[in-house]
Amino acid sequence: MNIGVSTLLFGSWDIVAAAGEIAAMGHQRIELFCQLPGFHPDEVTETTIKRLLELAREYDLEYSVHPPVVNTAASDDDERAGAVHAYTAALEVAARLGAGDVVVHSGHRSNPGVQAGEAWELAEQTLRVVGARAADLGIRLLLENTGWHAYGFMETPADLLRLVDVACPQDTGLLLDTGHAVLQGFDPAETARLWLPRLAQIHAHDNGGNTDDHLPLGCGVIDWASLISTLIESRWDGVFMIEVGENSDGRQSLAQSMRIIERHVGC
Ligand SMILES: [Zn+2]
Repeated sequence: MNIGVSTLLFGSWDIVAAAGEIAAMGHQRIELFCQLPGFHPDEVTETTIKRLLELAREYDLEYSVHPPVVNTAASDDDERAGAVHAYTAALEVAARLGAGDVVVHSGHRSNPGVQAGEAWELAEQTLRVVGARAADLGIRLLLENTGWHAYGFMETPADLLRLVDVACPQDTGLLLDTGHAVLQGFDPAETARLWLPRLAQIHAHDNGGNTDDHLPLGCGVIDWASLISTLIESRWDGVFMIEVGENSDGRQSLAQSMRIIERHVGC
């Protein structure tokens, strides 16, 4: 199991400072989140790209890119065009940084009145366009489970397997977001088992079962022992990306999350 850390941990910091801090703490797989200051794909400067590349050389880093948060299944045509733009612009930034993987969200209903089948169809349309651009650039997409409660359009974890098959390039990996899974009513360990061997990444963060809090591991309702033992027993070789939000102290949140991982990896 390969551990990575998302720059969401320092979400209010400049992207270079956030990536530099994570690298200095000894982590080499880093998710660059486009919502951080200085990293929106429409605004990122040559200087930022250059400094991220220097950092990667200095610490031997492996980057992946998380685009701005958009709705893949937006009902409004302009909003959906904006989502396609954000994804493709993030793919281009990823290519310049030598990042091999870019995250895409499965999407959600724009409002509870939208039929599940309609949202599914819109997600497919977006993913086909984004997938074609990713294939041109030689980048692998990671399709992440999103959308819950009245806004979700997937009923079971098997639905994401269907979506990836019909709408994404063949090499697309599945990304299991643990916090989203809980809100969707999916058991993270069972979902991981179902998605193997296509499971490429985990977004690891916790919540209290109601909202997408991105808490440190062990601070919510997720059964980490069950998920981590499932991954270890399966000799899973993907990236376990810690995607904890910026709480009071990012370094402490990361240390707390690492303790939970180490405890369960060891048993
Ligand atoms: Zn996530």
